Amino acid sequence: MSTTEKQHCVIIGAGPAGYTAAIYAARANLKPLMFTGSEPGGQLMITTDVENYPGYPDGIMGPKMMEDFRRQAARFGTDIRYDKVVQVDFSHPPHKVTTESGQTVEADSVIIATGASAKWLGLESEQRLMNKGVSACAVCDGFFFRGLEVAVVGGGDTAAEEASYLSKLCPKVHLLVRRDQLRASKIMQERVLKTANIIVHWNTEAQEILGEEEVEGVRILNNKTGESSILPIKAFFVAIGHQPNTDIFKGWLDMDETGYLITQAGTSRTNVEGVFAGGDAQDKVYRQAVTAAGTGCMAALDAERYLAEKGVV
Ligand code: NAP
Repeated sequence: MSTTEKQHCVIIGAGPAGYTAAIYAARANLKPLMFTGSEPGGQLMITTDVENYPGYPDGIMGPKMMEDFRRQAARFGTDIRYDKVVQVDFSHPPHKVTTESGQTVEADSVIIATGASAKWLGLESEQRLMNKGVSACAVCDGFFFRGLEVAVVGGGDTAAEEASYLSKLCPKVHLLVRRDQLRASKIMQERVLKTANIIVHWNTEAQEILGEEEVEGVRILNNKTGESSILPIKAFFVAIGHQPNTDIFKGWLDMDETGYLITQAGTSRTNVEGVFAGGDAQDKVYRQAVTAAGTGCMAALDAERYLAEKGVV
Protein backbone atom coordinates (compact mmCIF):
# COMPACT_ATOMS: atom_id res chain seq x y z
CA MET A 1 0.00 0.00 0.00
CA SER A 2 1.47 3.39 -0.86
CA THR A 3 1.34 6.29 1.58
CA THR A 4 2.50 9.91 1.49
CA GLU A 5 3.98 11.72 4.47
CA LYS A 6 5.55 15.14 4.91
CA GLN A 7 9.00 15.80 6.34
CA HIS A 8 11.30 18.81 6.72
CA CYS A 9 14.50 16.94 5.94
CA VAL A 10 15.03 13.61 4.21
CA ILE A 11 18.53 12.13 4.11
CA ILE A 12 19.25 9.50 1.46
CA GLY A 13 22.13 7.22 2.42
CA ALA A 14 23.74 5.99 5.63
CA GLY A 15 27.51 6.31 5.37
CA PRO A 16 29.70 8.87 7.15
CA ALA A 17 28.10 11.73 5.17
CA GLY A 18 24.50 10.66 5.80
CA TYR A 19 24.98 9.97 9.51
CA THR A 20 26.86 13.22 10.07
CA ALA A 21 24.12 15.15 8.25
CA ALA A 22 21.61 13.34 10.48
CA ILE A 23 23.45 14.25 13.69
CA TYR A 24 23.53 17.94 12.73
CA ALA A 25 19.98 18.05 11.37
CA ALA A 26 18.58 16.23 14.41
CA ARG A 27 20.39 18.55 16.83
CA ALA A 28 18.96 21.50 14.85
CA ASN A 29 15.50 20.06 15.54
CA LEU A 30 14.74 19.26 11.90
CA LYS A 31 13.60 15.74 12.90
CA PRO A 32 15.40 14.17 9.93
CA LEU A 33 14.17 11.04 8.24
CA MET A 34 16.96 8.85 6.89
CA PHE A 35 16.59 6.12 4.29
CA THR A 36 19.62 3.87 4.63
CA GLY A 37 19.50 2.19 1.23
CA SER A 38 20.54 -1.44 0.81
CA GLU A 39 24.02 -1.02 2.30
CA PRO A 40 23.67 0.78 5.64
CA GLY A 41 27.09 2.00 6.76
CA GLY A 42 28.34 2.19 3.18
CA GLN A 43 31.89 1.44 2.13
CA LEU A 44 33.27 1.45 5.67
CA MET A 45 31.35 -1.77 6.29
CA ILE A 46 33.84 -3.53 4.03
CA THR A 47 36.94 -1.92 5.54
CA THR A 48 39.06 -3.26 8.36
CA ASP A 49 41.17 -0.86 10.38
CA VAL A 50 40.54 2.84 9.84
CA GLU A 51 43.76 4.46 11.02
CA ASN A 52 43.36 7.96 9.64
CA TYR A 53 40.09 9.17 11.17
CA PRO A 54 41.03 11.77 13.79
CA GLY A 55 39.99 10.91 17.31
CA TYR A 56 40.86 7.23 17.13
CA PRO A 57 44.58 7.08 18.01
CA ASP A 58 44.55 3.26 18.01
CA GLY A 59 42.43 2.96 14.87
CA ILE A 60 38.92 1.55 14.70
CA MET A 61 37.22 -1.14 12.62
CA GLY A 62 35.05 0.35 9.86
CA PRO A 63 31.82 -1.46 10.87
CA LYS A 64 32.29 -0.47 14.53
CA MET A 65 32.79 3.15 13.50
CA MET A 66 29.60 3.10 11.45
CA GLU A 67 27.67 1.57 14.35
CA ASP A 68 28.91 4.46 16.53
CA PHE A 69 27.81 6.97 13.87
CA ARG A 70 24.39 5.30 13.69
CA ARG A 71 23.94 5.36 17.47
CA GLN A 72 24.92 9.02 17.60
CA ALA A 73 22.40 9.90 14.86
CA ALA A 74 19.69 7.85 16.61
CA ARG A 75 20.45 9.41 20.00
CA PHE A 76 19.29 12.82 18.76
CA GLY A 77 16.11 11.44 17.28
CA THR A 78 16.87 10.63 13.63
CA ASP A 79 14.16 8.42 12.18
CA ILE A 80 16.28 5.72 10.52
CA ARG A 81 14.43 3.50 8.05
CA TYR A 82 15.98 0.49 6.34
CA ASP A 83 14.42 1.18 2.98
CA LYS A 84 15.89 2.22 -0.36
CA VAL A 85 14.96 5.31 -2.36
CA VAL A 86 14.23 4.22 -5.93
CA GLN A 87 12.74 7.39 -7.42
CA VAL A 88 12.74 11.12 -6.85
CA ASP A 89 10.74 14.01 -8.25
CA PHE A 90 12.60 17.29 -7.82
CA SER A 91 10.35 19.33 -10.13
CA HIS A 92 9.33 21.73 -7.33
CA PRO A 93 9.38 21.84 -3.54
CA PRO A 94 8.27 19.92 -1.62
CA HIS A 95 10.40 17.27 -3.31
CA LYS A 96 9.11 13.74 -3.62
CA VAL A 97 11.10 10.68 -2.64
CA THR A 98 9.74 7.19 -3.26
CA THR A 99 11.14 4.00 -1.74
CA GLU A 100 11.34 0.36 -2.71
CA SER A 101 8.59 -0.48 -0.23
CA GLY A 102 6.23 1.92 -2.01
CA GLN A 103 6.37 4.78 0.46
CA THR A 104 6.37 8.35 -0.90
CA VAL A 105 7.63 11.21 1.27
CA GLU A 106 7.30 14.91 0.53
CA ALA A 107 10.37 16.72 1.79
CA ASP A 108 11.05 20.43 2.24
CA SER A 109 14.73 19.60 1.91
CA VAL A 110 16.66 16.56 0.71
CA ILE A 111 20.24 15.63 1.55
CA ILE A 112 21.87 13.18 -0.83
CA ALA A 113 24.57 10.99 0.69
CA THR A 114 24.31 7.90 -1.48
CA GLY A 115 28.08 7.37 -1.79
CA ALA A 116 29.84 5.30 -4.39
CA SER A 117 30.14 1.56 -5.17
CA ALA A 118 32.88 -0.74 -6.37
CA LYS A 119 33.65 -0.89 -10.11
CA TRP A 120 34.01 -4.13 -12.05
CA LEU A 121 36.31 -4.99 -14.96
CA GLY A 122 33.43 -5.92 -17.24
CA LEU A 123 34.60 -9.42 -18.18
CA GLU A 124 31.95 -12.03 -18.93
CA SER A 125 33.79 -14.49 -16.68
CA GLU A 126 33.76 -11.97 -13.84
CA GLN A 127 29.95 -11.82 -13.98
CA ARG A 128 29.59 -15.58 -14.29
CA LEU A 129 31.83 -16.33 -11.31
CA MET A 130 30.52 -13.51 -9.11
CA ASN A 131 30.26 -14.81 -5.53
CA LYS A 132 31.85 -18.07 -6.70
CA GLY A 133 35.32 -16.74 -6.07
CA VAL A 134 34.98 -13.31 -7.68
CA SER A 135 34.51 -10.57 -5.11
CA ALA A 136 35.06 -6.85 -4.51
CA CYS A 137 35.54 -7.31 -0.78
CA ALA A 138 38.49 -9.21 0.70
CA VAL A 139 37.32 -8.47 4.23
CA CYS A 140 33.93 -10.04 3.48
CA ASP A 141 35.07 -13.03 1.44
CA GLY A 142 38.80 -13.55 2.08
CA PHE A 143 38.13 -15.93 4.94
CA PHE A 144 36.55 -18.47 2.56
CA PHE A 145 39.82 -18.69 0.64
CA ARG A 146 42.27 -18.92 3.51
CA GLY A 147 45.21 -21.19 2.74
CA LEU A 148 44.65 -20.74 -1.01
CA GLU A 149 46.35 -18.73 -3.76
CA VAL A 150 44.42 -15.60 -4.76
CA ALA A 151 44.69 -12.51 -6.97
CA VAL A 152 43.78 -8.86 -6.51
CA VAL A 153 43.45 -6.46 -9.44
CA GLY A 154 44.11 -2.74 -9.03
CA GLY A 155 46.87 -0.38 -7.99
CA GLY A 156 45.22 2.08 -5.60
CA ASP A 157 44.87 2.14 -1.82
CA THR A 158 41.93 -0.24 -1.95
CA ALA A 159 43.91 -2.86 -3.89
CA ALA A 160 46.91 -2.41 -1.58
CA GLU A 161 44.69 -2.79 1.47
CA GLU A 162 42.94 -5.86 0.08
CA ALA A 163 46.27 -7.49 -0.85
CA SER A 164 47.69 -6.78 2.63
CA TYR A 165 44.61 -8.21 4.29
CA LEU A 166 44.68 -11.35 2.14
CA SER A 167 48.43 -11.83 2.68
CA LYS A 168 47.62 -12.74 6.29
CA LEU A 169 45.21 -15.48 5.19
CA CYS A 170 46.68 -16.79 1.95
CA PRO A 171 50.11 -18.22 1.07
CA LYS A 172 50.36 -16.23 -2.18
CA VAL A 173 48.59 -13.05 -3.23
CA HIS A 174 49.09 -11.93 -6.84
CA LEU A 175 48.57 -8.21 -7.30
CA LEU A 176 47.76 -7.39 -10.94
CA VAL A 177 48.73 -3.81 -11.78
CA ARG A 178 48.00 -2.52 -15.27
CA ARG A 179 50.80 0.07 -15.28
CA ASP A 180 54.41 0.02 -14.03
CA GLN A 181 53.52 1.84 -10.83
CA LEU A 182 51.00 1.86 -8.02
CA ARG A 183 48.60 4.72 -7.45
CA ALA A 184 48.34 3.88 -3.74
CA SER A 185 49.73 6.17 -1.01
CA LYS A 186 53.43 5.78 -0.20
CA ILE A 187 52.80 4.02 3.11
CA MET A 188 50.52 1.44 1.48
CA GLN A 189 52.96 0.94 -1.41
CA GLU A 190 55.73 0.21 1.06
CA ARG A 191 53.55 -2.20 2.98
CA VAL A 192 52.70 -4.11 -0.19
CA LEU A 193 56.23 -4.19 -1.58
CA LYS A 194 57.66 -5.33 1.77
CA THR A 195 55.22 -8.23 2.14
CA ALA A 196 56.99 -11.36 0.96
CA ASN A 197 53.88 -13.27 -0.14
CA ILE A 198 52.42 -10.44 -2.24
CA ILE A 199 53.70 -10.88 -5.77
CA VAL A 200 53.24 -7.75 -7.85
CA HIS A 201 52.71 -8.32 -11.58
CA TRP A 202 53.47 -5.00 -13.29
CA ASN A 203 51.93 -4.03 -16.67
CA THR A 204 49.50 -6.87 -16.26
CA GLU A 205 45.84 -7.19 -17.23
CA ALA A 206 43.35 -9.91 -16.37
CA GLN A 207 41.99 -11.32 -19.63
CA GLU A 208 39.73 -14.06 -18.37
CA ILE A 209 38.88 -15.67 -15.07
CA LEU A 210 38.89 -19.42 -15.53
CA GLY A 211 36.49 -21.99 -14.12
CA GLU A 212 32.84 -22.99 -14.51
CA GLU A 213 31.38 -23.38 -11.03
CA GLU A 214 34.28 -21.84 -9.14
CA VAL A 215 37.41 -19.84 -9.85
CA GLU A 216 40.24 -22.11 -11.02
CA GLY A 217 42.65 -19.55 -12.38
CA VAL A 218 43.11 -16.31 -14.25
CA ARG A 219 44.65 -15.74 -17.65
CA ILE A 220 46.82 -12.66 -17.56
CA LEU A 221 48.48 -10.59 -20.26
CA ASN A 222 51.66 -8.59 -19.91
CA ASN A 223 50.77 -5.50 -21.93
CA LYS A 224 54.45 -4.64 -22.49
CA THR A 225 55.69 -8.00 -23.75
CA GLY A 226 52.37 -9.36 -25.10
CA GLU A 227 53.04 -12.53 -23.12
CA SER A 228 50.03 -14.42 -21.79
CA SER A 229 50.08 -16.85 -18.83
CA ILE A 230 47.81 -18.51 -16.28
CA LEU A 231 47.88 -18.07 -12.49
CA PRO A 232 46.31 -20.99 -10.58
CA ILE A 233 44.22 -18.93 -8.19
CA LYS A 234 41.03 -19.78 -6.30
CA ALA A 235 39.68 -16.29 -5.76
CA PHE A 236 39.79 -13.04 -7.70
CA PHE A 237 39.32 -9.74 -5.91
CA VAL A 238 38.50 -6.64 -7.93
CA ALA A 239 39.69 -3.35 -6.38
CA ILE A 240 39.76 -0.82 -9.24
CA GLY A 241 37.86 2.08 -7.81
CA HIS A 242 34.30 3.19 -7.47
CA GLN A 243 31.36 4.82 -9.21
CA PRO A 244 28.91 7.22 -7.58
CA ASN A 245 25.42 5.95 -6.73
CA THR A 246 23.55 8.71 -8.48
CA ASP A 247 21.51 6.96 -11.20
CA ILE A 248 18.15 7.91 -9.66
CA PHE A 249 19.09 11.61 -9.87
CA LYS A 250 19.80 11.59 -13.63
CA GLY A 251 17.72 14.20 -15.37
CA TRP A 252 17.16 16.14 -12.13
CA LEU A 253 20.62 17.06 -10.91
CA ASP A 254 23.76 18.31 -12.64
CA MET A 255 26.50 15.70 -12.68
CA ASP A 256 29.82 15.25 -14.42
CA GLU A 257 30.45 12.71 -17.19
CA THR A 258 31.11 9.94 -14.65
CA GLY A 259 27.99 10.65 -12.59
CA TYR A 260 29.45 12.61 -9.66
CA LEU A 261 26.97 15.27 -8.49
CA ILE A 262 28.05 18.85 -9.03
CA THR A 263 27.66 21.14 -6.05
CA GLN A 264 28.18 24.91 -6.01
CA ALA A 265 31.73 25.70 -4.95
CA GLY A 266 32.20 25.88 -1.22
CA THR A 267 28.65 24.66 -0.49
CA SER A 268 26.59 21.47 -0.66
CA ARG A 269 23.93 23.09 -2.88
CA THR A 270 22.96 21.28 -6.06
CA ASN A 271 21.29 22.95 -9.04
CA VAL A 272 17.87 22.24 -7.46
CA GLU A 273 16.61 24.43 -4.66
CA GLY A 274 16.29 22.52 -1.40
CA VAL A 275 18.45 19.59 -2.56
CA PHE A 276 21.91 19.25 -1.05
CA ALA A 277 24.66 16.67 -1.51
CA GLY A 278 27.55 15.42 0.61
CA GLY A 279 30.01 12.53 0.68
CA ASP A 280 31.39 10.40 -2.15
CA ALA A 281 28.33 10.94 -4.39
CA GLN A 282 29.75 14.43 -5.05
CA ASP A 283 33.46 13.87 -4.35
CA LYS A 284 35.76 12.08 -6.73
CA VAL A 285 38.89 13.70 -5.38
CA TYR A 286 39.21 13.16 -1.63
CA ARG A 287 36.80 10.27 -0.93
CA GLN A 288 37.74 9.85 2.70
CA ALA A 289 35.48 9.07 5.64
CA VAL A 290 36.50 12.31 7.27
CA THR A 291 35.79 14.43 4.17
CA ALA A 292 32.46 12.64 3.71
CA ALA A 293 31.57 13.46 7.32
CA GLY A 294 32.64 17.08 6.71
CA THR A 295 30.53 17.52 3.59
CA GLY A 296 27.60 15.75 5.31
CA CYS A 297 27.84 18.38 8.04
CA MET A 298 27.88 21.12 5.38
CA ALA A 299 24.74 19.67 3.78
CA ALA A 300 22.85 19.68 7.07
CA LEU A 301 23.90 23.27 7.85
CA ASP A 302 22.95 24.40 4.33
CA ALA A 303 19.57 22.63 4.61
CA GLU A 304 18.93 24.18 8.01
CA ARG A 305 19.68 27.70 6.68
CA TYR A 306 17.57 27.09 3.59
CA LEU A 307 14.58 25.96 5.66
CA ALA A 308 14.98 28.95 7.98
CA GLU A 309 15.13 31.38 5.01
CA LYS A 310 11.99 29.81 3.56
CA GLY A 311 10.29 30.12 6.92
CA VAL A 312 9.64 26.38 7.02
CA VAL A 313 11.14 25.88 10.47
P1 NAP B 1 41.70 4.54 -7.16
O1 NAP B 1 42.60 5.33 -6.29
O2 NAP B 1 40.88 5.21 -8.19
O3 NAP B 1 42.59 3.41 -7.86
C1 NAP B 1 42.05 2.54 -8.79
C2 NAP B 1 43.15 1.61 -9.25
O4 NAP B 1 42.60 0.62 -10.09
C3 NAP B 1 44.23 2.34 -10.05
O5 NAP B 1 45.49 1.79 -9.77
C4 NAP B 1 43.81 2.05 -11.49
O6 NAP B 1 44.90 1.99 -12.36
C5 NAP B 1 43.23 0.66 -11.36
N1 NAP B 1 42.25 0.39 -12.41
C6 NAP B 1 41.16 1.12 -12.75
N2 NAP B 1 40.47 0.53 -13.74
C7 NAP B 1 41.14 -0.60 -14.03
C8 NAP B 1 40.92 -1.64 -14.96
N3 NAP B 1 39.87 -1.65 -15.79
N4 NAP B 1 41.81 -2.66 -14.97
C9 NAP B 1 42.86 -2.68 -14.13
N5 NAP B 1 43.13 -1.72 -13.23
C10 NAP B 1 42.26 -0.70 -13.17
O7 NAP B 1 40.64 3.72 -6.29
P2 NAP B 1 40.75 3.11 -4.82
O8 NAP B 1 41.98 2.34 -4.64
O9 NAP B 1 39.45 2.43 -4.62
O10 NAP B 1 40.81 4.38 -3.87
C11 NAP B 1 39.80 5.38 -3.95
C12 NAP B 1 40.08 6.49 -2.95
O11 NAP B 1 39.91 6.01 -1.61
C13 NAP B 1 41.51 7.02 -3.02
O12 NAP B 1 41.51 8.40 -2.79
C14 NAP B 1 42.21 6.29 -1.91
O13 NAP B 1 43.32 7.00 -1.41
C15 NAP B 1 41.11 6.18 -0.86
N6 NAP B 1 41.31 5.01 0.02
C16 NAP B 1 41.97 5.21 1.20
C17 NAP B 1 42.19 4.14 2.06
C18 NAP B 1 42.87 4.40 3.36
O14 NAP B 1 43.35 5.52 3.56
N7 NAP B 1 42.96 3.44 4.26
C19 NAP B 1 41.78 2.85 1.70
C20 NAP B 1 41.14 2.67 0.46
C21 NAP B 1 40.92 3.77 -0.36
P3 NAP B 1 45.68 3.31 -12.84
O15 NAP B 1 46.53 3.72 -11.65
O16 NAP B 1 46.44 2.84 -14.00
O17 NAP B 1 44.61 4.32 -13.17
